Amino acid sequence: MPDAILRLALPSPLRRLFDYRAPAGVPRSALQPGMRLRVPFGRRELIGILIEVCERSDVPEDKLKPALELLDNQPPLPPALFRLCLWTAQYYQHSLGDTLSWALPVLLRQGEPAEARQERFWLLSDGARADDPRLARAPRQREALKVIAQHPHGVAHQLLGQLQLNKDSLDLLRAKGLVHIEVRRHAPRERHASWLAQPELPLNAEQQVAERAVRAGFGRFGAFLLAGVTGSGKTEVYLQLIRATLEAGKQALVLIPEINLGPQTLARFERRFNARIALLHSAVNDRERLDAWLAARDGEADIIIGTRSALFTPMQRPGLIIIDEEHDASYKQQEGLRYHARDLALVRARQEDVPILLGSATPSLESLHNANSGRYGLLRLEHRAGGAQPPRFLRLDIKSLPLDSGISGPMQQAIRKTLEAGQQVLVFLNRRGFAPTLLCHDCGWLSECPRCDARMTVHQRSNELRCHHCGHVERRPSQCPKCQKLDLRPVGAGTERAEERLAILFPQVPVLRVDRDSTARKEAMNSLFNTIQRGEPCILVGTQMLAKGHHFPRVTLVAILDADGGLFSADFRASERMAQLIVQVAGRAGRAEEPGRVIVQSHLADHPLLVQLTEQGYFAFAEQALGERRNAGLPPFCHLALLRAEAHKPGQAEGFLDEACGEAELLLNELQLDGIELLGPVPAPMERRAGRYRAQLLLQSSARAPLHRLLHSWLAALEQMPSGRAVRWSLDVDPIDLF
Ligand code: ADP
Ligand code: ZN
Ligand code: ZN
Repeated sequence: MPDAILRLALPSPLRRLFDYRAPAGVPRSALQPGMRLRVPFGRRELIGILIEVCERSDVPEDKLKPALELLDNQPPLPPALFRLCLWTAQYYQHSLGDTLSWALPVLLRQGEPAEARQERFWLLSDGARADDPRLARAPRQREALKVIAQHPHGVAHQLLGQLQLNKDSLDLLRAKGLVHIEVRRHAPRERHASWLAQPELPLNAEQQVAERAVRAGFGRFGAFLLAGVTGSGKTEVYLQLIRATLEAGKQALVLIPEINLGPQTLARFERRFNARIALLHSAVNDRERLDAWLAARDGEADIIIGTRSALFTPMQRPGLIIIDEEHDASYKQQEGLRYHARDLALVRARQEDVPILLGSATPSLESLHNANSGRYGLLRLEHRAGGAQPPRFLRLDIKSLPLDSGISGPMQQAIRKTLEAGQQVLVFLNRRGFAPTLLCHDCGWLSECPRCDARMTVHQRSNELRCHHCGHVERRPSQCPKCQKLDLRPVGAGTERAEERLAILFPQVPVLRVDRDSTARKEAMNSLFNTIQRGEPCILVGTQMLAKGHHFPRVTLVAILDADGGLFSADFRASERMAQLIVQVAGRAGRAEEPGRVIVQSHLADHPLLVQLTEQGYFAFAEQALGERRNAGLPPFCHLALLRAEAHKPGQAEGFLDEACGEAELLLNELQLDGIELLGPVPAPMERRAGRYRAQLLLQSSARAPLHRLLHSWLAALEQMPSGRAVRWSLDVDPIDLF
C-alpha cells in the first residue's frame, strides 16, 4: 500500500493546501481531519491542520516531506466550527489555513495541547491517619495532614497558600506515603439550584413582546433585530433570554463591540447569573483565552462573552447568539481575514440551527433592510425603560456665524444656561488633537505628513504634529519650515482645542476630556466618571468614545459641534455613521425629571437627512437613506468587493490593478456573468499612506452568486500574475469603507 498523503491547511496567504507524508511512526489510523501537525516549510516550521488523508499527490515523490509531529489525539476544532471556517474561507476568498489560524486561540496556533489546563491536587492516601507515630514529633506535618483530610476531593496546588499549607511539610508527608498528588483538570463549578444570582426586573409590555418572540423561536434558526432606543431595556431582554437558554441546558454566545468592554457591561452579566462566564476579548491573556475557549467547547462555560473574534468560539450546546450594538464597525476586521462577525454570526446560527438576536438603537441599514424584507423579525422598543424622556433635537445653522474654537455664539449661550441651571453638558466633536492642521499665514505652508496625503494634527499638550493615519510624529515647528516666518496658526478645532477654550469660557466648572489621548490611563477614566456621577455642573468634551457604553443621567445638553463631515463625504456610508453617532451620543443623556436637549451645529442645517434625523428620528432617517441607496444602486441593494493594492513606487499598484481588471473582463465573458460592473482602477481617496501609493478596483454586482463565481476564478488568476509580486494586494468582500 502506498504511503498516505496528508493534505494540510497551513497559516499562509496562499489559497491552496500542502501535501506531506505522515510523521515517522504514526499509523494512518491515528490521523483524523482537524488534527494539528508540525511540518517543515522552507527553512521554518509551521503548524498545519489536516484537511484530508489521500492516496496520491501532484508533488513528486522525492519532494514530498514527512510531517515532523502529530500534535493531537483528538481534533481540537469541533466539526461545526470547522464547517464555519470552511464557509468563511470560501466566502471571503481567503486561504483556509490562514482562516483557521485567525479562528484558533493563539496558543493552539503555537502548538499548545488543546486540553483544559491540568492541575495538581494533594490528596490523603488510603489508610493515612493523623495519629501516625511517624508524626509524633512533627506538629506542622500533623497539622497539614489534618487540613488535607478535611478535603476529600483534594486541595488544588495553587490553593495551598490560602489554606496556610506549607509545601515542605506536604513533601515530607508525601515521602511517607501519607498524601499523594493527582493531576487532573480543575473541578467544574458546582451547579446552583437557580441560574439567577439576582432577581430579574419585570419586563414592560414592549420588552415582553420581544422576549416572547425570540423565546418562541428557541431550538431552531431564526434571526431577530431588536431595535430599541438607548435605555429601552435591550440588555434586560438579553439577560432574560440568556436565563431561558441556560434553563434549557444550552449555552449563549454574546458579542459586544471593542469599546463597550466597560467593566459595567460585564459586571451586569456577572451579577445576574450563577453561571460560568467565559470572557474572550483583547484584555484577556493568551492562556486565559485558551481556557475560556476550551471551557466553551467542552460545555463547561454557560455564557461566552467577547468581541469580534469570539464568534469563532466552539460551543458544545449552542442555544442562542446575541450581537449587541450590531451596527458597530468594530465587528468588521480590517486586516488579514476581512470578515464581518455579525454576518458570520448569522451563518453560524443557521449552521447550528439556533436563534440569533441583533440589538441596536441605531441598526445598520443592512439589518434594517433585512428586517424590511422579512428575513429578520423586527422587534421595536420605542420607550426608555426607566421612564426617561427621549432627548429633543435642535439644528443650529452656523452659516456665516463666527466659530470660536469650533463653538458658535448661540451654542455658548446654551452651554452657559445649562451650567447656570446646575446641570451637565456633553460636547461632542469627533476629531481629537488641538487642530486638524497648522498653517503658515505668510506663505500658505500646511503641515502635511511626509508619508501620507494627509495633514498632520496639532497636539498642543505634547507640542507635536501627529499624523493620525500612519502614526508619524514631529516636534511642532516654531517657525515656518518653508519661509521661516513665525506666523504659524492652527486651523480648525479638535477636542483639545475645544477643551482649552471651554475652560477659559467657563472657568467656574471642571472641563473633562474623553478621547483616545486622554484616556490612555484607566484611572484617569475612572476618576473622570466619578466626577460626572457626583452630578455637579461640568462639561464633558469628547470623541465617539462618549457614544458608547456609559450613561450620563445628569447631562441635559448635548452639543454636537460638527455634523457636516457626515453629509458630504466621498464615503457613501458616512451619513449613516454620522446619524448613528449623533443618536448614540444623544442617548447617553437625560433622565426622567430632566429630559435632554441635543443641539446640532451644521453648515448644512437644511440637509434632508439631517432634517429627517432631528425631526423624525433615526428610523425615518434610515428609510430616507435606504431610498437613496436603492436609487444609487449601493449596498444593501448591491454587493461589493474591493481589490486594494499598494506599492512603494507610484503607478505600480495601478499597473497591477489594470492587469487585474483586464483579467476580470476576460472571465466575465468566459463565465458569461451579468450584472457585474468594474469601477476603476482609481487611486485610493488617500493615495499615499505611510509611504506607499495606493489604488483600488471596485466590483459592484446586483447579485451575490455571480460575483462570487467571478471572485473565485479571478483570485486564482491574480495569484499567478507576476505584477502581483511587486505590490501588496488584498481583496475585501463586503467592504465597509472604500478607503
Ligand atoms: P439598553 O440596553 O437598551 O440601553 P438597559 O437594559 O441598559 O437598556 O436599560 C436601561 C435602564 O433601564 C437600566 O437602568 C435598566 O436597569 C432599566 N430597566 C430595563 N428594563 C427595565 C424594566 N423592565 N423595568 C424597570 N427598569 C428597567
Ligand atoms: Zn511660511
Ligand atoms: Zn502619515
